[in-house]
Amino acid sequence: MSNYFFNFSKMGYLTEEKPDGCILCMIAKNSTSVKKLKVWENDFFVVSVNLYPYNPGHLIIFPVRHITDIRDFTDEEERQMLVITKNLLNVIDKTHKPSAYNLGYNMGPVAGASINHLHRHIIPRYPREIGISDLIAGKKVLVEDPRVTCKRIKKALEKSPIRL
Ligand SMILES: [Zn+2]
Repeated sequence: MSNYFFNFSKMGYLTEEKPDGCILCMIAKNSTSVKKLKVWENDFFVVSVNLYPYNPGHLIIFPVRHITDIRDFTDEEERQMLVITKNLLNVIDKTHKPSAYNLGYNMGPVAGASINHLHRHIIPRYPREIGISDLIAGKKVLVEDPRVTCKRIKKALEKSPIRL
């Protein structure tokens, strides 16, 4: 059972030096090793496995443009965000079979946004997840290596491509 948990600090993509500047801009521009967690992109948006997944299948969608507020979305970005989100829900339904989702933005540090660059979280929820983190008090745990999540989602997207 202990192999089932991952320690974030031991994961390669997080032990590298913290980059200068916006991490999401760097992922969008492929200028960091964290780009390995990227699962999809077009000219407007990037989809990535969350750097610190809260749950297996936890993805973020963010605009290529560095904006910090949903009111800065163009009409086209707003439309694409919705279509991409719906497509990803269909994909995660198949790959991870969660029983529910949390979808949302954190805007501003007081709201918990650790990254300024606007991003929408897609957090799959599972029936028995509560209690797992209590087992290992104070440690962030997850039950799937984010790099494995990345591969699974990418593969599913090849079969069911996002159509805008
Ligand atoms: Zn940025």
